[in-house]
Amino acid sequence: MDFSIASVQELYDIATDVTARMRDRYSATKELQERRKSVVGTKCKYPGCMSNTETTWALVGLCRTHHKLIKEETTKYYKQTGILYEYRIHYLKIVEHIPFARKE
Ligand SMILES: [Zn+2]
Repeated sequence: MDFSIASVQELYDIATDVTARMRDRYSATKELQERRKSVVGTKCKYPGCMSNTETTWALVGLCRTHHKLIKEETTKYYKQTGILYEYRIHYLKIVEHIPFARKE
């Protein structure tokens, strides 16, 4: 498996899979760390936010506040069937920075 092109979700799944080979779990973890490092020192990508990047959401650098906001929104989005994609207001503010996201 080419870890450099795997999605963050795939990497997390492998890294936390106790049945996966240790070598793969290590490689997946290392790749996740490298991707986080690539956004260190940049500003949060949420519009209007001047905070420093502390973590990532789908490879987009965010501060803790906006990461939490989007995480909570996403959890709600997946729980409630019927909620429209367009209503994910916080996620949609950073979607242009996500390389693999739907953009309609
Ligand atoms: Zn922010």
